[in-house]
Amino acid sequence: MPATLSQKPQWKFTLGYLVWFALMIWFFRTAFSPSQPREVSYSDFLAEVGAGHLADVRITEGQLIGTLKKDQLKQEKGKPPVNPQIECDRIPGLDAGPLVQELQAQHVDISGKVPTQSIWGGVLISWGPILLLIAIYVVAMRRLQKSGGGPLSFGRNKAKIHDQSDRFDTKFSDVAGVEEAKAELQEIIDFLKTPEKYQKLGGRIPKGVLLVGPPGTGKTLLARAVAGESGVPFFSISGSEFVEMFVGVGASRVRDLFEQAKQRAPCIIFIDELDAIGKSRASGHGLFSNEEREQTLNQLLVEMDGFDSSKAVIIMAATNTPEVLDPALLRPGRFDRQVVLERPDMKEREAILKVHARKLPVAPGVNLESVAAETPGMVGADLANIVNEAALNAARRNAGQIEMRDFDQAVDRVTLGFEKKGRLIGPDEKERVAYHEVGHTLVALSVPNADPVKRVSIIPRSIGALGHTLQLPGRDRYLQTEPELEDRIAVLLGGRGAEETVFNGVVSTGASDDLARASEMARQMVTRFGMSSQMGAMTYGIPHESRYLNTPFEAEEKNYSERTAEQIDTEARDIIDRQHERVKSILASRRADLDLVAAALLKKETLEHDELEKLLAEHKPDPIAPARP
Ligand code: ADP
Ligand code: MG
Ligand code: ZN
Repeated sequence: MPATLSQKPQWKFTLGYLVWFALMIWFFRTAFSPSQPREVSYSDFLAEVGAGHLADVRITEGQLIGTLKKDQLKQEKGKPPVNPQIECDRIPGLDAGPLVQELQAQHVDISGKVPTQSIWGGVLISWGPILLLIAIYVVAMRRLQKSGGGPLSFGRNKAKIHDQSDRFDTKFSDVAGVEEAKAELQEIIDFLKTPEKYQKLGGRIPKGVLLVGPPGTGKTLLARAVAGESGVPFFSISGSEFVEMFVGVGASRVRDLFEQAKQRAPCIIFIDELDAIGKSRASGHGLFSNEEREQTLNQLLVEMDGFDSSKAVIIMAATNTPEVLDPALLRPGRFDRQVVLERPDMKEREAILKVHARKLPVAPGVNLESVAAETPGMVGADLANIVNEAALNAARRNAGQIEMRDFDQAVDRVTLGFEKKGRLIGPDEKERVAYHEVGHTLVALSVPNADPVKRVSIIPRSIGALGHTLQLPGRDRYLQTEPELEDRIAVLLGGRGAEETVFNGVVSTGASDDLARASEMARQMVTRFGMSSQMGAMTYGIPHESRYLNTPFEAEEKNYSERTAEQIDTEARDIIDRQHERVKSILASRRADLDLVAAALLKKETLEHDELEKLLAEHKPDPIAPARP
């Protein structure tokens, strides 16, 4: 049965060639065919004759075609040669006699009909390349067929899947902060090492293990580590490699993969980025045909069912988007075991940093715990990147060891982009940016639930901002209360609030990102978190977001009326307005602080937490604004 699945028509395959043909034909024609004779009017033609510019003339039934003498051609440098022929239509009924006499008098060659040779030349020029290409095509197909399997062998040849286990010596110790996942996979490793033990007892070992989690959390790494730990052959292929131009190739690759694996059992098959082929068949509403993907997926399902679990072949797969997978993949006997990799928490981040810093010359004073504290939300790939950046920073300094400041710089660079000191900003703009940032800072210092301000800066960074206020939570957050969200909105509005306060209500475009985030947050408070008394403890709309991808702002399905939509807008607007008023009153009451810190910031460009505290402590503190209006 499996074979029939890939025997679909191969028109796509041919289509690729046709496109190629068309391009070639176009090329040949433009490259080799001479340009058409230049069309002129009958009187111009006669003028050329009269001036004696023509070398020969051909008179046919409908046309006069003359060839200009060589010295009449104005060849321009670098341009293609000018066609020496001019042509005009004969005026019907007009006697050619006088013209012929004139030409004879000038000893111009006269001929009557088109030479046959040129017909053949024309045919050759227009059809020759096509014939040639068809010939090449036929020969190529013959050879393909001889090598077995027709066009399908195209896929087969490319799909050589090798045992890659010798390429990785990744071990579990290289993967940090995913202890639960490792514990789950340990069972698989034991099974692969001594399949007999499990087979004797008749226990059902999972056939397929699906690793799910956000990008960069180490799914691929973990799969390699399982291979490294168990020491069995490892066949790996990425879902995106299956996405091929020719129908049938994906399916044949899957077949090859399983064939080879069965011969080498016990072993591991690893399909990375499973979603590329495993998308739900129901979700096929793209511009492109899903035929290829569906065939590949079908083949995968067939193969997974095709051998019993006693075979000691473990199929691992990884995906960032488990929710788009075809449900058939998750049925018992297929990928029925899921191992979830979450974003690492602070302790786990520290462990990952340690793994990557292990082989590097890190100075004794470096505190990776504080690096971990400053990188909430980051995944293993980001942390690996930070360690690498830190090493590069140390190298740039020509230092022998990586110091704490190298790590600090690396964190900033990864989170904020690099500093663009060269960007020239006018004094007016700079002042505005300073007040804007200090606005964020002061609101953050005034509201009870904001994360502490680590730094405020007006050095432009490559990622967006002209300045930034960096707040760091002391710990990882999993929950947020309503007052906390309100305070976050207030801090976001602080930049614009300061601009309004200082520049007499004149605002700038600089706050647009802040406003977008604040609006989204307010909207979510209403639609997702039931934090509006008017709208009650309900959610509105079905979000189309992925659990593991950072796409909170994606389109949602509307499951409420227009009237409700209006209410949502009003309620969200209300939240924003309340916080806006609050911010304005905070900043009005701290106007002196605003000026003081902005002036210091303009002078120093960056104020760290301690400097900020000192500055404000020396100053007579304003009364703290009320927590909630
Ligand atoms: P995924 O496949 O989940 O997108 P990868 O396995 O490709 O993520 O991770 C990319 C890189 O990030 C790895 O090569 C490794 O250097 C680093 N990394 C990710 N997670 C971890 C981890 N838990 N421990 C150590 N390094 C990690
Ligand atoms: Mg990966
Ligand atoms: Zn801002």
